Amino acid sequence: MKRKYVLRSDLVGYVGVDIGGQNTRVGTILPNGRLKLISFSTQPKFSDQIEMLSNAIKELGVSKIKRIGIGSPGPLDWRRAFVFDTPNLPWKNVSFKLLEKRLNIDVLLDNDANVAGLGEATLGAGRGKRIVAGFTLGTGIGYFHIIDGRIYHGSLDVEAGHQILDPNGPRCNCGQNGCLEAFTSATGILHRYGVPPHELEDEKAWDEVAFRLAQGLVNIAVHTSAEVLILCGGMLARGEMLLKPLRRYYEQMLKVYPKRYRPKVLPAKLGDKAGVYGAIVLAHVGHAGV
Ligand SMILES: [Zn+2]
Repeated sequence: MKRKYVLRSDLVGYVGVDIGGQNTRVGTILPNGRLKLISFSTQPKFSDQIEMLSNAIKELGVSKIKRIGIGSPGPLDWRRAFVFDTPNLPWKNVSFKLLEKRLNIDVLLDNDANVAGLGEATLGAGRGKRIVAGFTLGTGIGYFHIIDGRIYHGSLDVEAGHQILDPNGPRCNCGQNGCLEAFTSATGILHRYGVPPHELEDEKAWDEVAFRLAQGLVNIAVHTSAEVLILCGGMLARGEMLLKPLRRYYEQMLKVYPKRYRPKVLPAKLGDKAGVYGAIVLAHVGHAGV
């Protein structure tokens, strides 16, 4: 199978923006291959956010910006660069076309999980693979599916964090019951075990979380036939506490493919920079149209 690599030198001239509830980071890859980053606090007013963004982008000092990619908490409509009412940001129903008009540079928007996944798939743990899928483990469970270095959406976006593992399971923030997110997100863990993941020391609890996450991974393996599955997010700092039982359950459950076609589950490599790198890659490759 032909492998595709994104080279850092291809990314020079593109700008990536990673918007979080607390901080916004703006970055570009310099001609020497290094990442230049500027951060500021995410602004409560959207007009101030646009102002700060355009200042930070100018401050990067890129002589001619080719395009800007943005990763933001969703739900959002990437086709219109439009963010709906979201619990993780202070603004609702806003369009990043405002930034495009202001700077006269094309802007591409996508949700933070897709963008971090794109970064990992092209420059991180999935580098060199054509079909990559995975989850971001955070306050929610984000999902990404990257095909030939581009994000796959479906008509709006795939929500595999909300696959139902047990219809009699715990209530999820989305309104369904027993979603993967309700069992394995930081919010779900806090709700079920009374402590956030970084304080959870109970092996039996981690075993339950790992079992549910393995179910989720097997389900995306059989739906995507990905070459690798990647896990991103702060929860991976718990290392083997999560990964050891996870690998055991995953290997026990997934049998349908011959061994060499069973995707390996890999931890992310880019850490908290996956979002900025992914946004730069998004600016470079553009959207695939689906
Ligand atoms: Zn849900």
